[in-house]
Amino acid sequence: MTLTHRSGRPPIQDEFTDLPITAQAKFLRRLERDHKCKICRQPTCEASRWYCLPHWQERETKSIQAQQNKAIERYMTNREVRKIRAIHPKRRPFRDY
Ligand SMILES: [Zn+2]
Repeated sequence: MTLTHRSGRPPIQDEFTDLPITAQAKFLRRLERDHKCKICRQPTCEASRWYCLPHWQERETKSIQAQQNKAIERYMTNREVRKIRAIHPKRRPFRDY
């Protein structure tokens, strides 16, 4: 444990200060303890451990879209999938909403 940070400010003193984990891990644990969003530091929503309502909704929407796209691909032939990927290499085919 060091007495000062190299920026000159004293290190944060709390239950995580002396844990043998990285600064990044301590930062995440503090966010979790204070119920703050990982992205914008607003209070988290009840449904989520890490995100506020708008960011949680954004992530939920993305994951639902990904599941739907996977389900669609399952019913496509390999040839159809390859054809679409040749045009949009980074995107999964169909369903863009
Ligand atoms: Zn947020």
